[in-house]
Amino acid sequence: MRVKLLPSAFPPPLSETHQYLTTYVINDGVAIDAGALGLFGGHEEQARIRHVFITHSHADHVAGLPVFLDTAYRGTTDCVVVHGSDAVLESLRHDWFNGRVWPDYERLAPNGCPFVRLSRLQPGQVVEVEGLRLTAVPVDHTVPTFGFLVEDADTAVVFSSDTGPTSELWERANRVANLKAVFLELSFPDELASVAATSKHLTPSLFAAEMRKLRHDVRWYAVHVKPRFREAVLADLASRPIPGLELILAGHEYDL
Ligand SMILES: [Zn+2]
Ligand SMILES: [Zn+2]
Repeated sequence: MRVKLLPSAFPPPLSETHQYLTTYVINDGVAIDAGALGLFGGHEEQARIRHVFITHSHADHVAGLPVFLDTAYRGTTDCVVVHGSDAVLESLRHDWFNGRVWPDYERLAPNGCPFVRLSRLQPGQVVEVEGLRLTAVPVDHTVPTFGFLVEDADTAVVFSSDTGPTSELWERANRVANLKAVFLELSFPDELASVAATSKHLTPSLFAAEMRKLRHDVRWYAVHVKPRFREAVLADLASRPIPGLELILAGHEYDL
């Protein structure tokens, strides 16, 4: 399984280390979240992505979606499918595709060819697309949020999305035999533990506590570090190293 976190900062080398928006692309064909999805590659590269899974309604995970759908439009009946919870679909319909911020792409269908189909995801639901099996697992954030367990024939990977301390994701991951990697959020330094608690995000100490909930030996990638607090997070990790934790590099393709 090939996983890439799309860059969302410019220019290099900031683009590798500073993450403003969240979008993973898996095997060039499936996206989890769409923060930067409309901002990468050429239009053909974008048009290869036919399934987008939105973890939650926050703008850093959705902002690139309108431009992406415009770019990826092929004028065929097999349009892009965006998968999300009831809360996510409600937000997409009312906050984005409302005829003001962006046209109503669900209804706009030149020659009978729509721009997008919105597909409802329920907790625990499994969706099979493009040779991948994605399970939507509720995590603990300030709005309804799904993490995803993603499996192909021989590899399983966990994407936490934004979350504070959580449990069901690890219970499910512990039942998977071939888990290779976890992409887990780490937003704030330890000195901002109270902000992390209020906004339901993780600090290095909380990240380490989540690691202990998993029985598998896997690669741990820390994502979603707030650029404003990156130096403080690095200082935490220097003074109290967390063995096995690796900070993700945006734009790098991880072969798992
Ligand atoms: Zn969020
Ligand atoms: Zn976020």
